[in-house]
Amino acid sequence: MSIPVWAQLAYLAAAVCFILALKGLSGPKTARNGNIIGAVAAVVACAIPFFYLDLDHVPLILVAIAVGTAGGVYGARTVQMTQMPQMVALFNGVGGGAAALVALLELHEITSGAGDEPGWFILLATAFTILVGSVSFAGSVITFAKLQELMTSRPVVFPGLPVVFGLALIGALVLGGLLIGDAGNGSGMSAGIVLALLGLLVGVLLVLPVGGADVPIVISLLNAFTGLTVAAGGYVLSNTLLLVAGTLVGASGTFLTLLMAGAMGRSVANIMFGALKGGSTLGSGVASDRPVKSAGAEDIAILLAYAERVIIVPGYGLAVAQAQHTLRELVDVLTARGIEVDYAIHPVAGRMPGHMNVLLAEAQVPYEQLKEMDEINGEFKNADVVLVVGANDVVNPAAKTTPGAPIYGMPILNADEAKQVIFMKRSMRPGFAGIENELLFEPTTTLFFGDAKESLGKLLNAVKAQ
Ligand code: NDP
Repeated sequence: MSIPVWAQLAYLAAAVCFILALKGLSGPKTARNGNIIGAVAAVVACAIPFFYLDLDHVPLILVAIAVGTAGGVYGARTVQMTQMPQMVALFNGVGGGAAALVALLELHEITSGAGDEPGWFILLATAFTILVGSVSFAGSVITFAKLQELMTSRPVVFPGLPVVFGLALIGALVLGGLLIGDAGNGSGMSAGIVLALLGLLVGVLLVLPVGGADVPIVISLLNAFTGLTVAAGGYVLSNTLLLVAGTLVGASGTFLTLLMAGAMGRSVANIMFGALKGGSTLGSGVASDRPVKSAGAEDIAILLAYAERVIIVPGYGLAVAQAQHTLRELVDVLTARGIEVDYAIHPVAGRMPGHMNVLLAEAQVPYEQLKEMDEINGEFKNADVVLVVGANDVVNPAAKTTPGAPIYGMPILNADEAKQVIFMKRSMRPGFAGIENELLFEPTTTLFFGDAKESLGKLLNAVKAQ
């Protein structure tokens, strides 16, 4: 059925809104508006078909929408900021799975002879959607399980994995080819279902060997896969909006994957297949028992009182402790006393892209105080005090000095160049990469043990009492 002009115009407007939404999401000041524009466009896009299509099973569709909406709203309201990557994985997987199911339904129409004889390109797009959508679904479920600690987050490799993976992939490609060549015969639907099952297997085997800090990068890659699937689904359904939206997701997911891999100093191929060659993205995770210098709030407040230039390095622990508001209060007091304070933002600090920006924006930290790594790295040598709040890997010099370390090659913040470094953490346990941080043992480093929120509260009181 052809789409009426008014609906096509509405789809076009929604597509433009999606592009504006992406543009808005590229900066903290405009992100909220970008999000709203995208959400409104998505609601409009979902509503349009009800007005021009002669739909069957409308009550069932409405129930499905209500269940999806309730799940989405509940998930978004209850998720902790630190669990955002696994939520994205889940939503992404559901998107890929839905696209694969829609393509299977289209295949059912084709094989039952209900519609017109399809061209080979439509069949190619259908096979692609079934296969890649299933890969994306299964891969996302495994990444979710890894990040939610329902299974080990280390790479899982077993003998013969590359062979099974290769065979599943070849089988899927051959089956896809057969489906395109001969979809009209009765076995077309069975081929489609086997193709989907092979896709699920490929998705699981693709993600199992990925571990540690690489898992969120794979989420972004699977996100790109889902985008391409949806775009192909748009072609199958002759729906331009799906095509545009899928292409946007595919392109932005690809860029994000490349940017994150670059920020960790790794190639995407190394992230996906490194473990098959025996590499590991995680260290032992054992807490060190080497001696360190530690101090309490009063001593550190004195150090801050004599400082003219202070740089804050926020990390994952700040998010866990939800200490961003107390940190901002402390910085406000220091700035009011004429001390120059900035926050140094590492691109992979925390557990998701932009994690620190979101966290600090929530605490109303002025954007001008947030300095990206390249902008601030030259400043550390002039800093009197660097306050590392719940960060570890992003200041670990092993990234520069220890070939073979899981983070070797990752650009880091040059905190080691400052005159004094204060580390706020609870124990001697390592960070995400599971490796020791030599900076903790330097003579210029002092540890301030405790939960970041409690410690910052004590430090704030000590500074105010001066
Ligand atoms: P890290 O994980 O390296 O270190 C976090 C530190 O916070 C630990 O030393 C921990 O020590 C401390 N900590 C935890 N909870 C608290 C608390 N309540 N109070 C005080 N301290 C606390 O974090 P970074 O931000 O430095 O580095 C991020 C790491 O995550 C990198 O390895 C990066 O590759 C990886 N990653 C980043 C992603 C991203 O997109 N941003 C995605 C996935 C992984 P202790 O337990 O002793 O308190």
